[in-house]
Amino acid sequence: MDFKIIESNKGGKCLLLDDFKYRKFRVSISGNVVWRCYIKNCTSTVTTCSQLKNILKINNTHKHKQVETVKIQIQEVRNVCKRKACNDIHERPRKKIRKEVSSIENSEVIGSNDVNLIRKSIYNERRKLLPTLPKSLEGALNFVSNSDILTWQNEKRWASGCRSAVQ
Ligand SMILES: [Zn+2]
Repeated sequence: MDFKIIESNKGGKCLLLDDFKYRKFRVSISGNVVWRCYIKNCTSTVTTCSQLKNILKINNTHKHKQVETVKIQIQEVRNVCKRKACNDIHERPRKKIRKEVSSIENSEVIGSNDVNLIRKSIYNERRKLLPTLPKSLEGALNFVSNSDILTWQNEKRWASGCRSAVQ
């Protein structure tokens, strides 16, 4: 049985089988994992062993279309880009996306719209790593005095210097 576990958009796991997508539903007492179809109201489930290596049971009742392969590929590219974007904060997103997109087969199906969405999610992900920007001058000064940045002479005095310079 050919199935795949990929990262979901929210950072969890999802299971792909025959182009149907499942989300983790529950873990049974024995440790087996039950996955449920992503489509609301669809009761199809797949049960895997706790190591997610084998499928033990399939309850296939889908009455809807499969997920388009390209959508799954885009999701995977997006997850990879998001993860790598945070590891290497200085590489430009466009370059990174191009690299990832070109690594998949029939990459021409990924349009500029998709690339823009991926880029947006990279920026969102990076923003989470940065402190929130102060909204006022006072906030900025407080931020500076509370930060651990020192001058080249290992002094922290510059923070109070900032304050007197603007007041
Ligand atoms: Zn379904």
